[in-house]
Amino acid sequence: VYDYLFTTLEDDDLARIALIDPATGAETTYGQLRGQIDAFAGALAARGVEVGTVLGLLSPNIPAFATVMHGALRAGATVTTINALYTAGEIEKQLKDAGATWLVTVSPFLAQAEAAAAASGIPADHLIVLDGAEGHPNLRELLMEGNPAPEVSFDPATHVAVLPYSSGTTGIPKGVMLSHRNLVANVAQCQVSLDLSHDDRVLAVLPFFHIYGLTVLLNLALQKRASLVTMPKFDLEAFLTNIQNYGCTYLYIAPPMAVALAKHPIVDQFDISTVHTVFSGAAPLDQETAEAAGRRIHARVLQGYGMTESSPVSHAIPVDRTDIPVSSVGPLLPNMQAKLVDTLTGEEITETGPDGATAPGELWMRGPNIMTGYLNRPDATAETLDADGFLHTGDVATWHEGDYFTIVDRAKELIKYKGYQIAPAELEALLLSHPKIMDAAVIGVLDDDKQEIPKAFVVARPDSGLTADEVMEFVAGQVAPHKKIRRVEFIDVIPKSSAGKILRKDLRARENA
Ligand code: ATP
Ligand code: MG
Repeated sequence: VYDYLFTTLEDDDLARIALIDPATGAETTYGQLRGQIDAFAGALAARGVEVGTVLGLLSPNIPAFATVMHGALRAGATVTTINALYTAGEIEKQLKDAGATWLVTVSPFLAQAEAAAAASGIPADHLIVLDGAEGHPNLRELLMEGNPAPEVSFDPATHVAVLPYSSGTTGIPKGVMLSHRNLVANVAQCQVSLDLSHDDRVLAVLPFFHIYGLTVLLNLALQKRASLVTMPKFDLEAFLTNIQNYGCTYLYIAPPMAVALAKHPIVDQFDISTVHTVFSGAAPLDQETAEAAGRRIHARVLQGYGMTESSPVSHAIPVDRTDIPVSSVGPLLPNMQAKLVDTLTGEEITETGPDGATAPGELWMRGPNIMTGYLNRPDATAETLDADGFLHTGDVATWHEGDYFTIVDRAKELIKYKGYQIAPAELEALLLSHPKIMDAAVIGVLDDDKQEIPKAFVVARPDSGLTADEVMEFVAGQVAPHKKIRRVEFIDVIPKSSAGKILRKDLRARENA
């Protein structure tokens, strides 16, 4: 990864700005960043970090994230990125599962980091606190030591570079082993569709600890010598302020941010005219929201799809393909193959209907960006990766004219009603188009006859007087009878993950409580 991103720096690139920290206004050039990465790799190597060492990284989006990530990779370590919202117990679990012997964090997370490190046998001098804390190494002092970056050797096709954990939307997060080759391949594949240049300024608010943030925000932007404006957490007003202050041109978002850009009144109070492209991923983005957001801020809105297991991007709408509806996720990235498989018969689906689209089937895909496996989970690996190298995504999709794909929903989330299969995502998109609905989620619940039926959880616009009947009639007027919403509950907020995914398992738990 280091060779691909940093050995290739040209003289012209060295003075370009790599990272901007709005908290301090500090700017880091590419030349400085490479120097810091080399020095950090040297400091780790001097302390015994080598190929095979696992280092946990628990940090929000700050410029030093890039130094630690790439310095550790350069030293041959495997970096396991940890969700910044995790409790001490959750951190401990991940450190132990990953076999981490080092942990890097920042002082606001000191309490949970110290507790988790102690519980996983990581000594105080292996807990680096970037901005400094009594009794722990800090970044400044490590960088000043002047140890040279080590020469390490490993097989880039198999050596695990990063070990992110899947989001845990459907169950317990799984450690996903991604090799150097996986990460480099995905940055290279993304370049073809996403037209980033060194003149772009990327607002980096989606977390770097998630693979979407790591590959698409951080690594792709660094490879393109663009500038990243880092934000530790999402807040709409700070987000808009940063775009305005730093002239950001490229936004990577998750769907809830598209909803805010489309609907929130404060958006009009900011000059964000520098933005030319908005790329959404991680969860379904519907056509209406995407178009409304694009019209409002005069930017091109694109959608992509991927998963931690594919480093993560496998599909994206290329900028020049204005013919592809934004509710789809675009064609496969280069060097990938896919097939759709009937979830009942296991047969490959090849026929297209009169509209040019295939019937829905489970998406299987293969390419240089597909993980080498799950850590410590041979059974899950065997279920997900087949002998031909295809990753069984668990997501249902349709394929249009051998070109672009549309994601229907996760196979496990489909609601089975009287022999039909209903995709919650389709009903959620419809609900969001209602002017009195702020947010919505749909799950299957059992009715009195133990028959699964679609139930909507709805966040109504305050004082709108929205009723359950109104919601049901609105949907019934637009879908086939079997897809009708049959139950409605009003709720204050839809539970979502930090990547903006609806946590339907939490809604199910609430239902069964
Ligand atoms: P876990 O596997 O732990 O249950 P997760 O699947 O949410 O969690 P991620 O790897 O972060 O973990 O997310 C990948 C999933 O996100 C995909 O399998 C898919 O269901 C969903 N997804 C990503 N992008 C899109 C998109 N554009 N449209 C619809 N769904 C998407
Ligand atoms: Mg998953």
